[in-house]
Amino acid sequence: MLDRKRTNDDRRKPAVQTPKRILIVNCYMDDLRVPIRRKTKIPQSMTAVFLAGLFSARNCDITLYSELYSGPLEDERLLSGTDMLVMTGVNTAFDRMLHLTAYVKSKNSKAVVVAGGSAIRALPEYSKKFFDYCCTGDIEQLADVIEDAFGRTYVSETFKETGWAVPRFDLVPWMTIMAYIESSRNCYFRCSYCSLTAENGKYQPYDIGYLRAQFVALGSRRMVHFLDNNFASPDRQFILDRFELLQELHEAGYFRRWGAEVTSDFFLNDGNLKQAYDCGCLALFCGVESFDRKSLLHFRKYQNTTLPQVEIIRKCLDAGITFLYGIVLDITNRRISELKAELDFIVGNSDITLPAFVTLAIPLLKTPYFYDCLAQKRFLPNVKLRDLDGTTITVKPLDSMTQAVQFVQDFQTLRGYKARIMRHMKNFYKKYRSVLSWDRMGFAQYCAFHLCTPKLATLGTDLGRIFGNGYGKYTRTYIGSTEVLDAVYKPAFRLDSKYESYFKPTMLTDKHGNLSETLQPDLLMN
Ligand code: SF4
Repeated sequence: MLDRKRTNDDRRKPAVQTPKRILIVNCYMDDLRVPIRRKTKIPQSMTAVFLAGLFSARNCDITLYSELYSGPLEDERLLSGTDMLVMTGVNTAFDRMLHLTAYVKSKNSKAVVVAGGSAIRALPEYSKKFFDYCCTGDIEQLADVIEDAFGRTYVSETFKETGWAVPRFDLVPWMTIMAYIESSRNCYFRCSYCSLTAENGKYQPYDIGYLRAQFVALGSRRMVHFLDNNFASPDRQFILDRFELLQELHEAGYFRRWGAEVTSDFFLNDGNLKQAYDCGCLALFCGVESFDRKSLLHFRKYQNTTLPQVEIIRKCLDAGITFLYGIVLDITNRRISELKAELDFIVGNSDITLPAFVTLAIPLLKTPYFYDCLAQKRFLPNVKLRDLDGTTITVKPLDSMTQAVQFVQDFQTLRGYKARIMRHMKNFYKKYRSVLSWDRMGFAQYCAFHLCTPKLATLGTDLGRIFGNGYGKYTRTYIGSTEVLDAVYKPAFRLDSKYESYFKPTMLTDKHGNLSETLQPDLLMN
């Protein structure tokens, strides 16, 4: 049985210090460019929850906030009196970090502001101008920051004893549909468009004891999802150890179903699927990205060329596990006619699930794809960092811009494909109803619904808010150079004029499409 006592750290001891008020925010900008909440989006970000595990529960009063789940943070009460603001987020969230810094510093000029995440790792020099601490390492770096800013008593006792940042699930409001856990970090592949490739971090399987501690902190849940970038592992023993633990926890009632993000090498060993199913696996997400071999080679996604992708998907479904994946459309290297043919192939093949999402290839900062676009002068003029969101054209397409815009606009809701998607759902149901349980089938079909309405499907009960917040009042151009700015670029309340520049978008390119001068020291360092 699990030792529940081990997870209770310093929270039981009496506080001896004046608690520090800590605000940890997952910063986010929505594709719709209006201030909305994505309450039913899967997955939700959990970095803030792990970061909270580095603070002393006894000496810190911690608030977690996810802009993905709760919408833009503009609550003056929450932003006031903060001793330390910790922010995390992807490339597009960088400007939100600037906004929140301005808000918090205006309320308390002595507040310590800490920023981390992929944009900070890519732009460490530029970031120093705005934030007190710029974290370019792993999450544990925050413990050094806390010690430096406040002293060691404010660092979690559990972390000091074990080196583990045990996530503060007790503080998180956004684990409603599903609970999240992590068993490894980084990835051992190097796909050309992936931010992990840009960061070149080493794949790190976690200690099994740490994984157990996360489950114990979580308690009993119906559905748990592993947020690992790569749940597969070249270390066979590590996979077996995790399955053994999952089996034990499944039998002990810690969860009923689980899911994970794997890479295609996971499917090379047939035993993996059987073991996963036996301990309650509901769904596996694997980055297919394309069914076109040339594109996979171009993405440097060599691992996806070992077995035919359709065969992998069938194998997974026949093992009784839902297979989920995304499709990446690279309009800089493929003709729109080819991309449409690929979408035709997908919706016409009921042997496979439909993708969970379709996105443009994004030249994320410091990835090989980013440098290719730069070397080939493909970036459009006046592109903002915020535009790197997968729904905005930031690089020159092979076809005309007019055709590209129409294509991007159509694939947001798969216009022209809906009847075929319905047919696919019906045929898929007939084919797999005997092998997929009702919840696994339901999850697969949810993805089809999501594909037709990717924006609305994740809004849940929040549907009405989008119209009250500006959606429909402007027309998107889908081109980075001319795209409308989000409403959050207008301060939510009166601020000192010295923060005016914090609300200007960070420009990635200048009016000629060259890298903006301010970002050159960071991005041309390689
Ligand atoms: S396999 Fe996935 S996580 Fe790993 S580098 Fe490629 S895209 Fe990134």
